[in-house]
Amino acid sequence: MIERSLPAGMAGGDTADAAFIAGRLLQVRERLSAVNGEGVRVVAVTKAHAADVVAAAIDAGCTDIGESYAQELLHKNRELLADCQNRPQVHFVGGLQRNKIRKLASIVDVWQSVDRLDLGEELARRSPRARVMVQVDLSGEQAKRGCPAEKVPDLVARFADLGLDVVGLMGIGPTGAPEKARPGFAMLRGLVDRLGLSECSMGMTADLEIAVQEGSTMVRVGTCLFGPRPSRRRKIEQ
Ligand SMILES: *Cc1c(COP(=O)(O)O)cnc(C)c1O
Repeated sequence: MIERSLPAGMAGGDTADAAFIAGRLLQVRERLSAVNGEGVRVVAVTKAHAADVVAAAIDAGCTDIGESYAQELLHKNRELLADCQNRPQVHFVGGLQRNKIRKLASIVDVWQSVDRLDLGEELARRSPRARVMVQVDLSGEQAKRGCPAEKVPDLVARFADLGLDVVGLMGIGPTGAPEKARPGFAMLRGLVDRLGLSECSMGMTADLEIAVQEGSTMVRVGTCLFGPRPSRRRKIEQ
C-alpha cells in the first residue's frame, strides 16, 4: 500500500518539498516495478499546483511534467521554466483550445491531448513537426474528451500528412474501480501496435498498475506525488 497521508504541517497542495516528493517518486517506481514496469516513463502532473511545487518536483528528479491549463502553464513558464537549469519535458495533457496553441508552442514539448483535426492543423502551423499524441476516448465520458477509437487511424494519418511527429496515443480510464479501466487500456495498446506507434500514455494514480499490465509506456501521475490538488478557485493571479 502507498502512504497517502501527508507529513504534519504539510497541507494538500503545499507539498513544495523536494525530499518529500523524491520519496513519493520512489514509491511510484516501486509500484511500477511490482508490475514489471521499470522502464515506464513517469510524467509528474503538476497541474493546479503552484510554481514552487514544480520547482520542487524538478529538484526531486522529475524529468517530465504534465500541465493542463494554458494560463497556468504560461504563468509557470514565466516564473520558472523559461530559465530553468534542469528544464523538464513539458507535456500538455489537458483540454486543448485552438486559440491557446500559438502562445504555448514554444513551451510545450509533447502535446498529449490532441483529439481533433483542427487542433493538428493549428499545431502544424504554429509548431511545425510538433511531437503529438492522439487522445483516444476510453470511457465515453464527455468531460474526458478524446477521439473515438474508430476514427483514430484516420486522424493519425492526417497528422502525419501535416508533418506532425505522432509518437503515440493517450487515454484516460473511466471513473470508478481501477479494474474497470482494463478493457479500454487493452484496446488503446492494441491501437498503438496496429498503427506502429511507440508511446502508449495511460495510467494515473489510481490505475497505474492496470495500465502497465496492459502495456503502458508512460504513466501520468499527480495525486500520488503531490497529494490532493488545491482548488482551482484559489487560482494563480495572471
Ligand atoms: C490530472 C491528470 C492526471 C493525474 O491524475 P492523478 O489521478 O492525480 O494521478 C493524469 N492525466 C491527465 C490527463 C490529467 O488531467
